Amino acid sequence: MKVVVLTGAGISAESGVPTFRDADGLWEGHRVEDVATPEAFDAAPSVVQAFYDARRAALTTVDPNPAHDALARLGEVLGDELLLVTQNIDDLHERAGSPTVLHMHGELLAAWCTACGHRVRWAGTLGDQPPCPGCGAPALRPDVVWFGEVPYEMDRIVDALVDADLFVSVGTSGAVYPAAGFVQQARAYGARTLELNLQPSEGSRWFHESRQGPAGLLVPAWVDSLLG
Ligand SMILES: [Zn+2]
Repeated sequence: MKVVVLTGAGISAESGVPTFRDADGLWEGHRVEDVATPEAFDAAPSVVQAFYDARRAALTTVDPNPAHDALARLGEVLGDELLLVTQNIDDLHERAGSPTVLHMHGELLAAWCTACGHRVRWAGTLGDQPPCPGCGAPALRPDVVWFGEVPYEMDRIVDALVDADLFVSVGTSGAVYPAAGFVQQARAYGARTLELNLQPSEGSRWFHESRQGPAGLLVPAWVDSLLG
């Protein structure tokens, strides 16, 4: 059985990762357009770098929760039959043990060089303008996909949605495209579709089934039932 799982901010929020879906519409006190657009980076690179440096450092204060653990277990059983796609830029799926994770919006723990295009794993800070390991230019930025930029590996995701028998969305708002359209694509090609979310989302009506509750409860229960 081929399964595509999409995870969003809700699964990380249950580990204590602050997200811009929080009630005030801000992300750690910042407007999204001030820290998550290429225009913001051009206008105030030090503000944007400081923001992501803080988010990167804060990863060490959070841990995977039972939803991450259950998806790691699913990945171990299904192997290549599972494509785990996340909108999240944290590393909680990896730390839970998921064998492969497709970060469609990039990763906090990676940087890319705006001078030479080099991509590199990065656990430290970028605001101090360290030299690119590839070309030496002080031109590294967070390897995250900002609003107005194209998400990563869309071809691979669409191919998996076309082939999927089951598409499951966990903790996503159903409001941010292209991810919000995955359910319709999967369904159009014959997949069963299931939503697991804290509350009904903007996309709930597109799913065959929508279950409401904490991911830390719903995801392990669903994985248990799937693996029998
Ligand atoms: Zn470079």
